[in-house]
Amino acid sequence: MEKFDLTILGGGILGTCLSYWSSLLYEGKIAVLEKEKDVALHTSGRNTGVVHRPFYLNPEKKKVFARSAQISYHLWKKYALLRNLPWKEIGTIEVAVEKEEVNSLEKYMSWALQNGMDESEVEYLSGEQVRAKEPYVHCLGAVFSKTDTSVDYKSFTSSIKEEARDQGVDFLFNFEVGKIFVENELLKIVNSRDGSIIETKFLINCLGGQAIDCAHKMRVGMEYTDLHFRGEYWQIHPDQAKCIERNIYSVPRHKELPFLDPHWIVRSDGRREIGPNAVLVSGAETYSGFFNSAGELLKKIFERPMTNKFKLFTNPEFLKLAKEEWMSSISKKNMLKRVQRFIPHLKSNFLIQKGSAGVRSSVIDPNGCFAKEVVELESPTSYHILNYNSPGATGAPAYTAFLIDKLEKKGLLKGLKKRKIGLKSFWDYEEIMENFNF
Ligand SMILES: Cc1cc2nc3c(=O)[nH]c(=O)nc-3n(C[C@H](O)[C@H](O)[C@H](O)COP(=O)(O)OP(=O)(O)OC[C@H]3O[C@@H](n4cnc5c(N)ncnc54)[C@H](O)[C@@H]3O)c2cc1C
Repeated sequence: MEKFDLTILGGGILGTCLSYWSSLLYEGKIAVLEKEKDVALHTSGRNTGVVHRPFYLNPEKKKVFARSAQISYHLWKKYALLRNLPWKEIGTIEVAVEKEEVNSLEKYMSWALQNGMDESEVEYLSGEQVRAKEPYVHCLGAVFSKTDTSVDYKSFTSSIKEEARDQGVDFLFNFEVGKIFVENELLKIVNSRDGSIIETKFLINCLGGQAIDCAHKMRVGMEYTDLHFRGEYWQIHPDQAKCIERNIYSVPRHKELPFLDPHWIVRSDGRREIGPNAVLVSGAETYSGFFNSAGELLKKIFERPMTNKFKLFTNPEFLKLAKEEWMSSISKKNMLKRVQRFIPHLKSNFLIQKGSAGVRSSVIDPNGCFAKEVVELESPTSYHILNYNSPGATGAPAYTAFLIDKLEKKGLLKGLKKRKIGLKSFWDYEEIMENFNF
């Protein structure tokens, strides 16, 4: 049986970045368990691919996401240059279409600076000024975030995996985390594919959409539940792609709920897409249809705690919006209509085929409300990261550095030994920690 000091569950961008920092700073046996044959085959490789600047993040309510995104922008920029990975700084124009949305723009201008962006990176634009830059975009005003960047998070994660491997991390692929039990004060983790078992002193759960199920298996976070929302994209015909050069996002109309209008996106390879919507589905990997199997659907409906979801499902606004999202999954016309609010020029024949889809798993608290921040839960032998949603890919390198520091301070990394002479890194750990000034 293989034995590890630290085991990270999940080879998404979160687990992979965490394995990088832990092996950089500590000596000991570290493993990443991933059920697929490579990293980033789920949400981390199926997202919009934007390094989000934090102008739209409330610095109080979304402090961790905002700080992580701000610090990580500079980390990813340096890394992309070093490893020659795609980095297209194309900018995002976030538009207000209705009068009441204009107030949000003023807030965004101030949040941008509070979150550490430079004044030169953001500009308030009137509707006329937007049209001068992007003639096909209709709005009353906008915030232009000039340094938003298109990247490929799959290639970022794969590259960080290689760095972590060079530092000694074992990536165990085709390892589907099943049963977890304690024996002689050590955790045993069973691979449900072949029954093999590994032993570890401590585990960090970074299982994305399945993180809550794993936490519940260990009787942690029993007060929370989650729902899965699939974000779908439509590809734009190459002949029409050039008509808009920047990302176009619209101000969210329903701030407490995870429903945004789809955006116009410029991918790092130049393709344009619209999306994502947020279609309620039964599983974290339900990439088509609304459920993978009747069993999965029933499990989702009846899983405990049921009151969280019951409270949410009695919210008429949630039900109305969820229905609209389902409609935009079934009907291309419906999806199109939502983007035509701010790009009226867009026609049905510009949308040539569906692109990839990614699933966001949102945690619901006992009041029936969606968690706004990342949810961290601990037990003496485990730490669990839930609700690690957008802009999670942006913030991953800084957030995971912050996490390692926190675990060390809590005395949870007992099995590992701090390196006396640190390994060389392209990122400056001390500087990152100084920037997490809370
Ligand atoms: C539609 C969409 C668009 C987004 N756009 C952006 C964006 O533009 N910019 C941004 O910053 N963020 C974006 N995000 C958010 C970002 O993608 C996520 O925050 C991030 O990818 C989460 O990474 P993760 O490692 O936590 O999860 P994941 O990437 O889902 O990784 C979890 C891993 O765990 C593995 N796993 C699950 N169960 C098991 C098991 N039992 N055993 C072993 N392995 C298991 C999975 O195979 C997977 O590889 C977007 C998200 C969505 C859904």
